This record gives sequence, C-alpha cells and structure tokens, in this order.
Amino acid sequence: MDLDAELALRHEIFSALDQLVAAKGGALTRPELFNFELHGSRLPLVDGQRGIRNPASFSSTLSVMSTPNGPYSDEVVGESLHSYAYTVGDINKGDNRKLRRSVETRLPMIFLQWIDVDGIRYVPIYPVYAIQDDPENRKIIIALDKKLLDVADPLHLSPVEKRYAQRVTEQRLHQPQFRSQVLIAYKKRCAVCRLARPELLEAAHIIADKKLHGSAEIANGLSLCRIHHAAFDTNLIGFSPDLRVHVGATLRAAENEGPILKFALRGLQSAELMVPETEQYRPSPERLAERFEEFRTAQPLTKVANMDVASVESIPWGAE
Ligand SMILES: [Zn+2]
Repeated sequence: MDLDAELALRHEIFSALDQLVAAKGGALTRPELFNFELHGSRLPLVDGQRGIRNPASFSSTLSVMSTPNGPYSDEVVGESLHSYAYTVGDINKGDNRKLRRSVETRLPMIFLQWIDVDGIRYVPIYPVYAIQDDPENRKIIIALDKKLLDVADPLHLSPVEKRYAQRVTEQRLHQPQFRSQVLIAYKKRCAVCRLARPELLEAAHIIADKKLHGSAEIANGLSLCRIHHAAFDTNLIGFSPDLRVHVGATLRAAENEGPILKFALRGLQSAELMVPETEQYRPSPERLAERFEEFRTAQPLTKVANMDVASVESIPWGAE
C-alpha cells in the first residue's frame, strides 16, 4: 500500500471511529477497539496484548495506548506534548521500526487515553502526529495537532507555541477525557431528564474550570443533555445542593413555546437530580451551593412578581 492509499484508509478509519465513539459516549473498551470493523471487515485498532498497533500492511504505527504504570506508559513532555516509549528490544526492528517510521511518514495516528471509571476504557484521540524521534532516550514525541509538526524544536516551544499547545491539549485531550469519565459515572444519562443518548450528552462543569484550576474531576461534573447543559450554563435552570432542579424566572414567565419548554424545562421543577452510585463521583455539595448562589443572583427579579426562591420551591413537580 503506498502512503497516499494508507492516508486515505486512515481517514476512513477515523470517520468510522467518529460514529462508534459518538454512540459510546467518547470512550471504548479494549474489546470494542479490538473488534473494530471498517466496511464489514475486522480491522483491530489495538493489539491483543501490546500497547501499540502496527497492522502488517501499514508503513507505520496506527495507534498507541497510554497505560498508568506500564512499560509503555506515555508521559507529558514540555506541558503539552506526549512521549511514547519504544518497546523492549532492537530499536530498528518490529514495533520500534514502525513507531520510528511514523516520524518520517507523518501519517495521522490514534492516541488511546486510558481512563478508569467503573472499569478501564480508552478515549481515542485522533488524528495525532509523531513529530520527533529520540533514539537516545528510546521514545518518540507525539503532538495532538498538525500545526505542531512545523515547530522548530518540539522540546523547547516558544511562549506562543506553548500557549497554543496547551490550548490544544485542553481541547483535544482533557475535555474529551473529562466528558467520558462523567458520562460513564452517570451511566450515560442526563442527570436531569434521564435521556440515555450519548450523542446528545455533555459533561457540564459545576464550577467553571477557569475558576478552579485542576478541577476536571468527576465531582465537579454533571452529565447533562445539550438542552439542560445550556439551560444550566445560562442560569435558566439551577440545581440546589439538595439535588433539586429549580426553574428560573425567565422560563417560568415564558409561554407558548411548545413541548420542550412545557415538559423538558418547566415540567422538571423540583425534580431530583440523578447522581452516581459511587460516592466519590457524586457532585460536591459545596460546589453545588456556590453555583446555586450564582443562579439565584442571576434571576431577573423585576420580571415576575414575587419571584423569590420560596415561590420557586413551592411549585410542585410537574406543575405549569
Ligand atoms: Zn436532559
């Protein structure tokens, strides 16, 4: 297979993977990766045992897998790039030959980010690129974005390049990882309406990530469908620390907007949030309290008469 054909095949793999990843909520089990099919034919995206996948007909590596403590564990380099260690043995043979060849072919690869929430799964990050070979330290450097192929020195990024690389890491790696972890903790359902369509689910931050650095943990997340996520982020609805849904003044005053307003928003007043069974994954009450204050102060009090919290809470489940 020439490199152009291989590039086209890789893009077909990524398109098929898009569908599978969307249907599964962002993360796949090892068997799901192993039994991957393209146009009805099996094309494993991982090896049965190893953390690297080099299909026989491919010029260079298709996927590498992160493991927490294994011999092939990846590490973050320069805050924004990843390294991937060679396998044991000759640096010019077997898996190492194709891994190192990836730097020359510049063909897009798949990086499988390990997560452990009620079992081990992998978040496929793709396309990623091998940008530098480091035979002395037996590793290659992987970038999550094509633009980083052209930096002068991947191990010493300029301040501008570094900021760019950090943003890419946040968007391409940390956000998909956070979303997958939260969705799995909530059994791939919306905490408000129980909708179980991973394609329509997102991971909301209770306290915005910017405010609380390094808080991309499940206890700062909520699995919400797109409607309820957007309603929560814009304070159209709020969640009190006792895990109740509160419908804000704007929605309470609205009329004649059809079934989403009537049933999916106003109808959920006082509904109880569905939270994970595992205690450490449940939303932090302190963060919910802080965020609920923001919801309360954001309510346009002048719009609706008697619009205080007491009147919000007095509306029974399902009332209009
Ligand atoms: Zn929902």
